[in-house]
Amino acid sequence: MTKKRKNKIIKMCPECHSTKFQKDIRHQETYCTKCGLVILAPLTSGIIYPGYMYVDITKKI
Ligand SMILES: [Zn+2]
Repeated sequence: MTKKRKNKIIKMCPECHSTKFQKDIRHQETYCTKCGLVILAPLTSGIIYPGYMYVDITKKI
């Protein structure tokens, strides 16, 4: 395999596919600014969050 291609990976909200996120310093949560879905939160919260949706946009250009 000699493919040398730079993959462009972007982070998206799994719910609304927005790429804008806001970090809540107080709660240490990262959430989507569009739909408000919590993407990441500290493990101590005991809740498993969906996390970012990683999308490879390399081919779409
Ligand atoms: Zn969203």
